[in-house]
Amino acid sequence: MAFVIPAPHVAALPIVDSDAQFPIRRVHCVGKNYADHVREMGGDPERNPPFFFGKPSDAVVPLGGEIAYPPMTSNLHHEVELVVALGSGGRDIPAGKALDCVYGYAVGIDLTRRDLQAKYKDKGQPWEMAKGFDQSAPVSAVMPASRCGHPVAGAIWLSVDGVDRQRGDLAQMTWNVAEVIAHLSAYVALAPGDLIFTGTPAGVGALVRGARVRCGIEGIGELEIVLV
Ligand code: MN
Repeated sequence: MAFVIPAPHVAALPIVDSDAQFPIRRVHCVGKNYADHVREMGGDPERNPPFFFGKPSDAVVPLGGEIAYPPMTSNLHHEVELVVALGSGGRDIPAGKALDCVYGYAVGIDLTRRDLQAKYKDKGQPWEMAKGFDQSAPVSAVMPASRCGHPVAGAIWLSVDGVDRQRGDLAQMTWNVAEVIAHLSAYVALAPGDLIFTGTPAGVGALVRGARVRCGIEGIGELEIVLV
């Protein structure tokens, strides 16, 4: 079939120790999945059902690197997160079968225009432009679950210019990966190529131009970005 304009590029992530890539369909994100982060945002950390938002697939920046400080914000925040890469999908996936859908895991940063998000929350408006802007989702190479298993615990950390900002453990997630997949698949059909950002531990904060951000997850990988 001929297209009237060039077909959009398929976003993809490298895979650890492989020449093949992981093609990206959708990018789903979970809000408020670590109680200590909910508290720092002024919320109540009771175990409410998870809620979801999205980013466009072309917001993913494979392997991080230089990221332009985005327009329309003066309070850009970092949120380090475990990213789940789905190799299969479905609807209404039971938690007990959900991990069978996981191809692998990666380290991501959910970059957030916190000032816009606060304004939208106040006005009851959509968060999209606070979360789904260009280059808002740097992600590391994907570590196949066939190599790393399905992590239920392990350090998750982020530093800015060598100073620790976020340090938590995957075991602190309110909803674990299987439960996140189960809940999300009740709202939308999941499919191969979907990424799921699973929420961030406490310590989120602002980034200025020139900031060098390093982050990682034990057993999964590391990621570095520089704001330019
Ligand atoms: Mn987040």
